[in-house]
Amino acid sequence: MQESNISPNNFEQCLKCNLCTSVCPMMAANPHYPGPKQAGPDGERYRLKDPAFFDLTLKYCLNCKRCEVACPSGVKVGDIIQASRLKYGHQSNPLRDTILASTDFVGSLASPMAPTVNALLEWKPVKKMMNLFGVDSRRKFPSYSKLKFENWFREQVPSQENFRRFVSYFHGCYVNYNYPELGQDFVKLMNACGYGVRMLEGEKCCGVAMISNGMGRQAAVNGSKNLDAMRKALRDGSEAVLTSSSTCTFTMRDEYEHLLGLKTADIRPHLMLATKFIFDRVESGDIRLVFKEERRGKYVYHTACHMQKLGWTIYSTELLKMIPGMDLTVLPQECCGIAGTFGFKKENYPYSQLIGSKLFDLIKKLNPRAVITDCETCKWQIEMSTGYSVLNPISVLAEALDLEKTSRLNVAVPSR
Ligand code: SF4
Ligand code: SF4
Repeated sequence: MQESNISPNNFEQCLKCNLCTSVCPMMAANPHYPGPKQAGPDGERYRLKDPAFFDLTLKYCLNCKRCEVACPSGVKVGDIIQASRLKYGHQSNPLRDTILASTDFVGSLASPMAPTVNALLEWKPVKKMMNLFGVDSRRKFPSYSKLKFENWFREQVPSQENFRRFVSYFHGCYVNYNYPELGQDFVKLMNACGYGVRMLEGEKCCGVAMISNGMGRQAAVNGSKNLDAMRKALRDGSEAVLTSSSTCTFTMRDEYEHLLGLKTADIRPHLMLATKFIFDRVESGDIRLVFKEERRGKYVYHTACHMQKLGWTIYSTELLKMIPGMDLTVLPQECCGIAGTFGFKKENYPYSQLIGSKLFDLIKKLNPRAVITDCETCKWQIEMSTGYSVLNPISVLAEALDLEKTSRLNVAVPSR
Protein backbone atom coordinates (compact mmCIF):
# COMPACT_ATOMS: atom_id res chain seq x y z
CA MET A 1 0.00 0.00 0.00
CA GLN A 2 1.45 3.36 -1.04
CA GLU A 3 0.86 5.96 1.66
CA SER A 4 0.82 8.84 -0.86
CA ASN A 5 -2.34 7.52 -2.45
CA ILE A 6 -4.25 6.71 0.71
CA SER A 7 -6.01 10.05 0.95
CA PRO A 8 -7.70 11.36 -2.19
CA ASN A 9 -7.61 14.88 -0.66
CA ASN A 10 -9.38 17.03 -3.21
CA PHE A 11 -11.33 18.62 -0.35
CA GLU A 12 -10.37 22.15 -1.48
CA GLN A 13 -12.81 21.74 -4.35
CA CYS A 14 -15.76 21.78 -1.92
CA LEU A 15 -18.19 24.62 -2.71
CA LYS A 16 -20.10 24.20 0.58
CA CYS A 17 -23.32 23.71 -1.39
CA ASN A 18 -24.57 20.90 0.88
CA LEU A 19 -25.98 18.89 -2.01
CA CYS A 20 -24.19 15.82 -0.69
CA THR A 21 -25.97 16.09 2.65
CA SER A 22 -29.35 16.01 0.92
CA VAL A 23 -28.70 12.54 -0.57
CA CYS A 24 -26.86 10.82 2.29
CA PRO A 25 -29.02 7.93 3.49
CA MET A 26 -27.15 7.61 6.77
CA MET A 27 -27.54 11.26 7.68
CA ALA A 28 -31.32 10.97 7.21
CA ALA A 29 -31.51 7.89 9.45
CA ASN A 30 -28.93 8.53 12.15
CA PRO A 31 -28.66 11.77 14.16
CA HIS A 32 -25.16 10.78 15.34
CA TYR A 33 -23.71 10.80 11.82
CA PRO A 34 -22.22 14.18 10.88
CA GLY A 35 -22.95 13.72 7.16
CA PRO A 36 -20.76 13.75 4.07
CA LYS A 37 -19.71 17.41 4.08
CA GLN A 38 -18.62 17.44 7.69
CA ALA A 39 -17.20 13.90 7.69
CA GLY A 40 -15.54 14.42 4.29
CA PRO A 41 -14.03 17.73 3.11
CA ASP A 42 -14.65 19.75 6.31
CA GLY A 43 -13.29 17.08 8.64
CA GLU A 44 -10.31 16.34 6.39
CA ARG A 45 -8.93 19.86 6.91
CA TYR A 46 -8.79 19.21 10.67
CA ARG A 47 -7.55 15.61 10.42
CA LEU A 48 -4.62 16.70 8.30
CA LYS A 49 -3.61 19.12 11.05
CA ASP A 50 -4.09 16.58 13.82
CA PRO A 51 -5.33 12.97 13.50
CA ALA A 52 -6.92 13.39 16.96
CA PHE A 53 -9.76 15.13 15.09
CA PHE A 54 -10.74 11.75 13.60
CA ASP A 55 -14.36 11.20 14.56
CA LEU A 56 -15.42 7.64 15.42
CA THR A 57 -18.91 8.25 14.00
CA LEU A 58 -17.36 7.99 10.52
CA LYS A 59 -17.84 4.24 10.98
CA TYR A 60 -21.49 4.85 10.03
CA CYS A 61 -20.59 5.86 6.47
CA LEU A 62 -22.07 3.21 4.13
CA ASN A 63 -19.53 3.97 1.38
CA CYS A 64 -22.52 4.15 -0.96
CA LYS A 65 -20.95 7.09 -2.87
CA ARG A 66 -24.31 8.79 -3.36
CA CYS A 67 -22.59 11.97 -2.07
CA GLU A 68 -20.02 11.73 -4.86
CA VAL A 69 -22.69 11.25 -7.50
CA ALA A 70 -24.49 14.37 -6.22
CA CYS A 71 -21.41 16.60 -5.79
CA PRO A 72 -21.25 19.25 -8.54
CA SER A 73 -17.58 19.88 -7.85
CA GLY A 74 -16.22 16.34 -8.13
CA VAL A 75 -15.16 16.11 -4.48
CA LYS A 76 -14.32 12.48 -3.67
CA VAL A 77 -16.38 12.69 -0.50
CA GLY A 78 -16.86 8.96 0.05
CA ASP A 79 -13.21 8.23 -0.77
CA ILE A 80 -12.04 10.92 1.68
CA ILE A 81 -14.13 9.31 4.44
CA GLN A 82 -13.07 5.74 3.63
CA ALA A 83 -9.42 6.74 3.36
CA SER A 84 -9.49 8.43 6.75
CA ARG A 85 -11.20 5.37 8.27
CA LEU A 86 -8.42 3.18 6.88
CA LYS A 87 -5.76 5.59 8.08
CA TYR A 88 -6.98 6.57 11.55
CA GLY A 89 -9.84 4.21 12.42
CA HIS A 90 -9.81 0.87 14.19
CA GLN A 91 -12.15 -2.11 14.26
CA SER A 92 -14.80 -1.82 16.97
CA ASN A 93 -15.07 -5.62 17.30
CA PRO A 94 -11.87 -7.01 15.73
CA LEU A 95 -12.71 -10.74 15.73
CA ARG A 96 -16.22 -10.26 14.35
CA ASP A 97 -15.13 -7.69 11.78
CA THR A 98 -12.21 -9.83 10.59
CA ILE A 99 -14.41 -12.91 10.21
CA LEU A 100 -17.13 -10.98 8.36
CA ALA A 101 -14.53 -9.49 6.02
CA SER A 102 -12.73 -12.80 5.31
CA THR A 103 -15.27 -14.05 2.79
CA ASP A 104 -12.82 -16.28 0.90
CA PHE A 105 -11.52 -17.95 4.06
CA VAL A 106 -14.96 -18.44 5.63
CA GLY A 107 -16.46 -19.60 2.32
CA SER A 108 -13.73 -22.22 1.81
CA LEU A 109 -14.46 -23.63 5.29
CA ALA A 110 -18.27 -23.48 5.04
CA SER A 111 -18.81 -24.72 1.48
CA PRO A 112 -17.73 -28.41 1.97
CA MET A 113 -20.15 -28.65 4.93
CA ALA A 114 -22.84 -26.48 3.34
CA PRO A 115 -26.00 -28.35 4.46
CA THR A 116 -24.83 -28.43 8.10
CA VAL A 117 -23.59 -24.82 8.09
CA ASN A 118 -26.84 -23.60 6.50
CA ALA A 119 -28.92 -25.42 9.11
CA LEU A 120 -26.76 -24.07 11.94
CA LEU A 121 -27.05 -20.48 10.64
CA GLU A 122 -30.84 -20.79 10.96
CA TRP A 123 -30.77 -22.47 14.38
CA LYS A 124 -31.97 -20.21 17.20
CA PRO A 125 -29.22 -21.03 19.76
CA VAL A 126 -26.58 -20.28 17.10
CA LYS A 127 -28.32 -17.02 16.22
CA LYS A 128 -28.31 -16.07 19.91
CA MET A 129 -24.60 -16.82 20.13
CA MET A 130 -23.94 -14.72 17.05
CA ASN A 131 -25.92 -11.90 18.62
CA LEU A 132 -23.57 -12.00 21.63
CA PHE A 133 -20.69 -11.97 19.19
CA GLY A 134 -22.05 -8.78 17.58
CA VAL A 135 -23.89 -10.18 14.54
CA ASP A 136 -27.58 -9.29 14.66
CA SER A 137 -29.74 -12.40 15.12
CA ARG A 138 -32.40 -10.98 12.78
CA ARG A 139 -30.00 -10.95 9.85
CA LYS A 140 -30.43 -13.83 7.42
CA PHE A 141 -27.16 -15.18 6.02
CA PRO A 142 -26.92 -16.21 2.37
CA SER A 143 -26.81 -20.00 2.23
CA TYR A 144 -23.65 -21.81 1.17
CA SER A 145 -23.42 -24.21 -1.76
CA LYS A 146 -21.73 -27.59 -1.51
CA LEU A 147 -20.74 -27.27 -5.15
CA LYS A 148 -18.08 -24.60 -5.53
CA PHE A 149 -18.24 -22.70 -8.82
CA GLU A 150 -14.49 -23.21 -9.36
CA ASN A 151 -14.92 -26.99 -9.06
CA TRP A 152 -17.85 -27.00 -11.48
CA PHE A 153 -15.89 -24.86 -13.93
CA ARG A 154 -12.88 -27.19 -13.93
CA GLU A 155 -15.04 -29.76 -15.77
CA GLN A 156 -15.98 -27.16 -18.40
CA VAL A 157 -12.44 -26.10 -19.34
CA PRO A 158 -12.01 -28.39 -22.43
CA SER A 159 -15.31 -27.26 -23.98
CA GLN A 160 -14.52 -23.59 -23.29
CA GLU A 161 -11.22 -23.82 -25.18
CA ASN A 162 -13.10 -24.78 -28.39
CA PHE A 163 -14.14 -21.14 -28.92
CA ARG A 164 -12.24 -18.67 -31.07
CA ARG A 165 -12.85 -15.69 -28.79
CA PHE A 166 -12.42 -15.55 -25.04
CA VAL A 167 -13.33 -13.53 -22.00
CA SER A 168 -12.06 -14.11 -18.46
CA TYR A 169 -14.51 -14.18 -15.59
CA PHE A 170 -13.99 -12.63 -12.15
CA HIS A 171 -16.66 -14.66 -10.34
CA GLY A 172 -16.16 -13.31 -6.80
CA CYS A 173 -16.75 -15.06 -3.46
CA TYR A 174 -20.54 -15.10 -3.63
CA VAL A 175 -20.68 -17.03 -6.92
CA ASN A 176 -17.92 -19.36 -5.78
CA TYR A 177 -19.23 -20.35 -2.35
CA ASN A 178 -22.92 -19.44 -2.30
CA TYR A 179 -24.45 -19.09 -5.73
CA PRO A 180 -22.63 -21.08 -8.45
CA GLU A 181 -25.84 -21.00 -10.51
CA LEU A 182 -25.09 -17.38 -11.41
CA GLY A 183 -21.63 -18.35 -12.66
CA GLN A 184 -23.17 -21.20 -14.65
CA ASP A 185 -25.64 -18.73 -16.22
CA PHE A 186 -22.71 -16.43 -17.04
CA VAL A 187 -20.92 -19.26 -18.89
CA LYS A 188 -24.13 -20.21 -20.76
CA LEU A 189 -24.73 -16.60 -21.77
CA MET A 190 -21.19 -15.88 -22.93
CA ASN A 191 -21.01 -19.17 -24.85
CA ALA A 192 -24.25 -18.27 -26.65
CA CYS A 193 -22.67 -14.89 -27.45
CA GLY A 194 -19.77 -16.75 -29.11
CA TYR A 195 -17.19 -16.48 -26.31
CA GLY A 196 -15.35 -19.17 -24.42
CA VAL A 197 -14.90 -18.42 -20.72
CA ARG A 198 -11.63 -18.63 -18.84
CA MET A 199 -11.03 -18.32 -15.11
CA LEU A 200 -8.51 -15.88 -13.71
CA GLU A 201 -5.49 -17.74 -12.39
CA GLY A 202 -5.43 -17.29 -8.60
CA GLU A 203 -8.47 -15.03 -8.25
CA LYS A 204 -8.85 -13.59 -4.72
CA CYS A 205 -11.75 -11.87 -2.99
CA CYS A 206 -11.99 -8.33 -4.42
CA GLY A 207 -11.49 -7.01 -0.87
CA VAL A 208 -14.53 -4.74 -0.58
CA ALA A 209 -15.44 -6.09 2.86
CA MET A 210 -11.81 -5.80 3.96
CA ILE A 211 -11.74 -2.13 2.98
CA SER A 212 -14.91 -1.37 4.95
CA ASN A 213 -13.62 -3.31 7.96
CA GLY A 214 -10.28 -1.54 8.23
CA MET A 215 -8.19 -4.27 6.59
CA GLY A 216 -6.58 -2.11 3.92
CA ARG A 217 -3.31 -4.01 3.79
CA GLN A 218 -4.98 -7.38 3.21
CA ALA A 219 -7.25 -5.80 0.58
CA ALA A 220 -4.18 -4.38 -1.20
CA VAL A 221 -2.51 -7.82 -1.23
CA ASN A 222 -5.65 -9.34 -2.78
CA GLY A 223 -5.99 -6.43 -5.18
CA SER A 224 -2.43 -6.77 -6.40
CA LYS A 225 -2.89 -10.49 -7.07
CA ASN A 226 -6.18 -9.87 -8.90
CA LEU A 227 -4.68 -7.17 -11.10
CA ASP A 228 -1.72 -9.41 -11.99
CA ALA A 229 -4.13 -12.25 -12.84
CA MET A 230 -6.13 -9.89 -15.07
CA ARG A 231 -2.98 -8.66 -16.85
CA LYS A 232 -2.01 -12.26 -17.56
CA ALA A 233 -5.51 -13.12 -18.81
CA LEU A 234 -5.46 -10.18 -21.22
CA ARG A 235 -1.96 -11.09 -22.43
CA ASP A 236 -3.17 -14.66 -23.02
CA GLY A 237 -5.90 -13.45 -25.38
CA SER A 238 -9.01 -12.68 -23.35
CA GLU A 239 -10.83 -9.70 -24.86
CA ALA A 240 -11.96 -8.50 -21.43
CA VAL A 241 -12.31 -9.45 -17.79
CA LEU A 242 -16.03 -9.66 -17.05
CA THR A 243 -17.93 -9.68 -13.78
CA SER A 244 -21.44 -10.29 -12.53
CA SER A 245 -21.30 -8.15 -9.36
CA SER A 246 -21.49 -4.35 -9.45
CA THR A 247 -19.79 -4.04 -6.05
CA CYS A 248 -16.75 -6.19 -6.92
CA THR A 249 -16.47 -4.32 -10.23
CA PHE A 250 -16.64 -0.89 -8.61
CA THR A 251 -14.12 -1.86 -5.94
CA MET A 252 -11.59 -3.17 -8.44
CA ARG A 253 -12.04 -0.33 -10.96
CA ASP A 254 -12.13 2.60 -8.53
CA GLU A 255 -11.21 1.77 -4.96
CA TYR A 256 -8.06 -0.21 -5.75
CA GLU A 257 -6.51 3.01 -7.04
CA HIS A 258 -8.27 5.62 -4.89
CA LEU A 259 -7.99 3.84 -1.55
CA LEU A 260 -5.31 1.19 -1.88
CA GLY A 261 -2.82 2.98 -4.11
CA LEU A 262 -2.79 0.24 -6.76
CA LYS A 263 -2.26 1.20 -10.39
CA THR A 264 -5.25 0.18 -12.49
CA ALA A 265 -5.12 2.44 -15.58
CA ASP A 266 -4.10 -0.46 -17.86
CA ILE A 267 -6.87 -2.73 -16.54
CA ARG A 268 -9.85 -0.37 -16.20
CA PRO A 269 -10.82 -0.25 -19.89
CA HIS A 270 -10.96 -4.07 -19.99
CA LEU A 271 -12.70 -4.74 -16.66
CA MET A 272 -16.48 -4.45 -16.71
CA LEU A 273 -19.81 -6.02 -15.97
CA ALA A 274 -20.86 -8.62 -18.52
CA THR A 275 -24.01 -6.61 -19.31
CA LYS A 276 -21.92 -3.63 -20.47
CA PHE A 277 -19.71 -5.86 -22.63
CA ILE A 278 -22.71 -7.57 -24.23
CA PHE A 279 -24.70 -4.36 -24.72
CA ASP A 280 -21.78 -2.61 -26.48
CA ARG A 281 -21.34 -5.56 -28.83
CA VAL A 282 -25.06 -5.92 -29.53
CA GLU A 283 -25.05 -2.23 -30.49
CA SER A 284 -22.07 -2.68 -32.81
CA GLY A 285 -23.56 -5.85 -34.35
CA ASP A 286 -20.80 -8.14 -33.03
CA ILE A 287 -23.25 -10.06 -30.86
CA ARG A 288 -26.76 -11.00 -31.90
CA LEU A 289 -29.40 -12.17 -29.44
CA VAL A 290 -32.46 -14.34 -30.14
CA PHE A 291 -35.02 -14.55 -27.35
CA LYS A 292 -37.66 -17.15 -26.69
CA GLU A 293 -41.18 -15.80 -27.16
CA GLU A 294 -42.78 -16.18 -23.75
CA ARG A 295 -45.11 -14.28 -21.47
CA ARG A 296 -42.93 -12.80 -18.73
CA GLY A 297 -44.79 -10.42 -16.45
CA LYS A 298 -43.83 -7.54 -14.26
CA TYR A 299 -40.27 -7.09 -12.99
CA VAL A 300 -38.60 -4.19 -11.21
CA TYR A 301 -34.93 -3.25 -11.49
CA HIS A 302 -33.10 -1.89 -8.42
CA THR A 303 -30.02 0.24 -9.10
CA ALA A 304 -27.42 -0.59 -6.45
CA CYS A 305 -25.54 2.47 -5.14
CA HIS A 306 -22.26 1.31 -6.68
CA MET A 307 -24.06 0.66 -9.96
CA GLN A 308 -25.24 4.25 -9.91
CA LYS A 309 -21.69 5.43 -9.25
CA LEU A 310 -20.47 3.31 -12.19
CA GLY A 311 -23.23 4.85 -14.33
CA TRP A 312 -23.92 1.46 -15.89
CA THR A 313 -27.57 0.78 -15.02
CA ILE A 314 -28.53 1.54 -18.60
CA TYR A 315 -26.57 -1.44 -19.96
CA SER A 316 -28.41 -3.94 -17.78
CA THR A 317 -31.84 -2.38 -18.17
CA GLU A 318 -31.59 -1.89 -21.95
CA LEU A 319 -30.62 -5.54 -22.41
CA LEU A 320 -33.49 -6.64 -20.17
CA LYS A 321 -35.92 -4.49 -22.15
CA MET A 322 -34.97 -6.44 -25.31
CA ILE A 323 -36.66 -9.53 -23.82
CA PRO A 324 -40.08 -9.92 -25.47
CA GLY A 325 -42.97 -9.51 -23.05
CA MET A 326 -40.77 -8.05 -20.32
CA ASP A 327 -42.60 -5.39 -18.31
CA LEU A 328 -39.68 -3.71 -16.54
CA THR A 329 -39.93 -0.81 -14.11
CA VAL A 330 -36.64 0.84 -13.17
CA LEU A 331 -37.07 1.93 -9.56
CA PRO A 332 -35.91 5.35 -8.39
CA GLN A 333 -32.42 4.91 -6.93
CA GLU A 334 -32.57 4.26 -3.19
CA CYS A 335 -29.96 2.71 -0.92
CA CYS A 336 -31.08 -0.72 0.32
CA GLY A 337 -29.16 -0.11 3.56
CA ILE A 338 -27.09 -3.29 3.84
CA ALA A 339 -23.74 -1.85 2.64
CA GLY A 340 -22.01 -5.24 2.59
CA THR A 341 -21.11 -6.36 6.10
CA PHE A 342 -22.43 -3.14 7.69
CA GLY A 343 -26.01 -4.43 7.98
CA PHE A 344 -24.88 -7.68 9.62
CA LYS A 345 -23.51 -5.88 12.66
CA LYS A 346 -25.78 -5.68 15.68
CA GLU A 347 -25.18 -1.96 16.26
CA ASN A 348 -25.99 -1.14 12.60
CA TYR A 349 -28.93 -3.42 11.90
CA PRO A 350 -31.68 -0.90 12.85
CA TYR A 351 -30.10 1.81 10.63
CA SER A 352 -29.72 -0.71 7.83
CA GLN A 353 -33.42 -1.61 7.90
CA LEU A 354 -34.60 1.98 8.35
CA ILE A 355 -32.53 3.17 5.38
CA GLY A 356 -33.89 0.39 3.16
CA SER A 357 -37.53 0.78 4.25
CA LYS A 358 -38.48 3.21 1.46
CA LEU A 359 -37.21 0.76 -1.16
CA PHE A 360 -38.88 -2.23 0.51
CA ASP A 361 -42.24 -0.43 0.67
CA LEU A 362 -42.05 0.53 -2.99
CA ILE A 363 -41.25 -3.03 -4.06
CA LYS A 364 -44.14 -4.41 -2.00
CA LYS A 365 -46.49 -1.81 -3.49
CA LEU A 366 -45.50 -2.71 -7.06
CA ASN A 367 -45.78 -6.44 -6.29
CA PRO A 368 -43.50 -7.64 -9.12
CA ARG A 369 -42.87 -11.21 -10.23
CA ALA A 370 -39.25 -10.64 -9.14
CA VAL A 371 -36.70 -7.90 -8.48
CA ILE A 372 -33.59 -7.65 -10.66
CA THR A 373 -30.31 -6.11 -9.51
CA ASP A 374 -26.58 -6.35 -10.25
CA CYS A 375 -25.50 -6.46 -6.60
CA GLU A 376 -25.53 -9.59 -4.45
CA THR A 377 -25.69 -7.81 -1.10
CA CYS A 378 -28.72 -5.79 -2.27
CA LYS A 379 -30.21 -9.18 -3.20
CA TRP A 380 -29.73 -10.50 0.35
CA GLN A 381 -31.22 -7.37 1.87
CA ILE A 382 -34.24 -7.14 -0.45
CA GLU A 383 -35.04 -10.86 -0.27
CA MET A 384 -34.83 -10.84 3.53
CA SER A 385 -36.82 -7.63 3.96
CA THR A 386 -39.53 -8.04 1.30
CA GLY A 387 -39.84 -11.77 0.63
CA TYR A 388 -39.55 -11.16 -3.14
CA SER A 389 -36.96 -13.13 -5.01
CA VAL A 390 -34.09 -11.12 -6.50
CA LEU A 391 -32.33 -12.11 -9.72
CA ASN A 392 -29.15 -11.01 -11.46
CA PRO A 393 -29.68 -9.68 -15.02
CA ILE A 394 -27.29 -12.36 -16.30
CA SER A 395 -29.57 -15.14 -15.04
CA VAL A 396 -32.65 -13.42 -16.48
CA LEU A 397 -30.97 -13.04 -19.86
CA ALA A 398 -29.62 -16.61 -19.88
CA GLU A 399 -33.08 -17.92 -19.11
CA ALA A 400 -34.85 -15.74 -21.69
CA LEU A 401 -32.47 -16.40 -24.60
CA ASP A 402 -32.92 -19.08 -27.19
CA LEU A 403 -29.40 -20.30 -26.46
CA GLU A 404 -29.13 -22.57 -29.48
CA LYS A 405 -30.27 -20.01 -32.06
CA THR A 406 -28.20 -17.23 -30.44
CA SER A 407 -25.18 -19.48 -30.39
CA ARG A 408 -25.54 -20.41 -34.09
CA LEU A 409 -25.67 -16.72 -35.06
CA ASN A 410 -22.69 -15.70 -32.97
CA VAL A 411 -20.41 -18.58 -33.88
CA ALA A 412 -20.59 -17.22 -37.44
CA VAL A 413 -19.16 -13.86 -36.30
CA PRO A 414 -15.47 -13.75 -37.29
CA SER A 415 -12.70 -13.31 -34.71
CA ARG A 416 -12.01 -9.70 -33.78
S1 SF4 B 1 -20.79 7.45 1.10
FE1 SF4 B 1 -23.02 7.35 1.47
S2 SF4 B 1 -23.25 7.15 3.70
FE2 SF4 B 1 -21.13 7.86 3.31
S3 SF4 B 1 -21.26 10.09 3.44
FE3 SF4 B 1 -21.52 9.56 1.27
S4 SF4 B 1 -23.76 9.42 0.99
FE4 SF4 B 1 -23.37 9.34 3.22
S1 SF4 C 1 -21.78 18.38 -2.70
FE1 SF4 C 1 -19.56 18.59 -3.03
S2 SF4 C 1 -19.23 20.78 -3.16
FE2 SF4 C 1 -21.25 20.52 -2.23
S3 SF4 C 1 -20.85 20.49 0.03
FE3 SF4 C 1 -20.80 18.36 -0.65
S4 SF4 C 1 -18.63 17.98 -1.08
FE4 SF4 C 1 -18.87 20.20 -1.01
